[in-house]
Amino acid sequence: MSTLEIRDLHVAVGDKEILRGVDLTVRSGETHAIMGPNGSGKSTLAYAVAGHPKYTVTSGTVLLDGEDLLEMSVDERARAGLFLAMQYPVEVPGVSVSNFLRSAITAVRGEAPKLRDFAKELKSGMDALSIDPAFAQRNTNEGFSGGEKKRHEILQLELLKPKIAVLDETDSGLDVDALRVVSEGINRFRASGDTGVLLITHYTRILRYVKPDFVHVFAGGRVVEEGGPELADKLENEGYEAYVRDARKAD
Ligand code: ADP
Ligand code: MG
Ligand code: MG
Repeated sequence: MSTLEIRDLHVAVGDKEILRGVDLTVRSGETHAIMGPNGSGKSTLAYAVAGHPKYTVTSGTVLLDGEDLLEMSVDERARAGLFLAMQYPVEVPGVSVSNFLRSAITAVRGEAPKLRDFAKELKSGMDALSIDPAFAQRNTNEGFSGGEKKRHEILQLELLKPKIAVLDETDSGLDVDALRVVSEGINRFRASGDTGVLLITHYTRILRYVKPDFVHVFAGGRVVEEGGPELADKLENEGYEAYVRDARKAD
């Protein structure tokens, strides 16, 4: 049982305050959707929790099972069980997917998996996501299509088994088939009940496949509404306009 606890988080980029007091608790077995218009601060939340140096936490706390994540390096956060799938993953030229994943597992588990065990894990993970075996030898994220990037993220989830997974716009750029494969991957992964998922998305369509337990609406760097899955349906019909207007008025 794990808990990610975000309390009154304020985050700035340079001297611009972007997050203005975010409270959010994610427990293992729960899926939380963070929804909101472009520029509302969704990615900022993900990066700040993951420890990206550009995002300065000016006040507030982030605890994972009571431990202060904000005091940890990015690597320590990963070892503590946090996983971030980025909206725009970086290319790692010269490092194959296979080596990248083995290094990531080594970093998180603290020891290198035996090659044979790793090969087996990798193969079963790739099979489950309908990934061509040749993919393992390609350079990490180099020239990946949108669908390949996202499958690669879900493959990382399956292999790393984090306590809390933050998925930023995992649905962006996916055609319907890829969306289904990726959604099935997320569902398989969360079925264990050991992991809490924070699913960040601008669109409601992935939520038809991955049913959230809680929905939080972001606008202007704050959570402006919370509810169950029915809130996603409301957003699908009504959009974010009203929230954006209210957030501006409150400034
Ligand atoms: P979302 O993911 O909801 O679309 P972001 O968190 O990416 O929103 O951005 C929120 C706001 O912060 C935007 O106004 C954006 O321009 C600004 N911002 C985010 N990251 C940076 C950055 N690295 N440098 C400058 N401004 C940034
Ligand atoms: Mg505050
Ligand atoms: Mg974003």
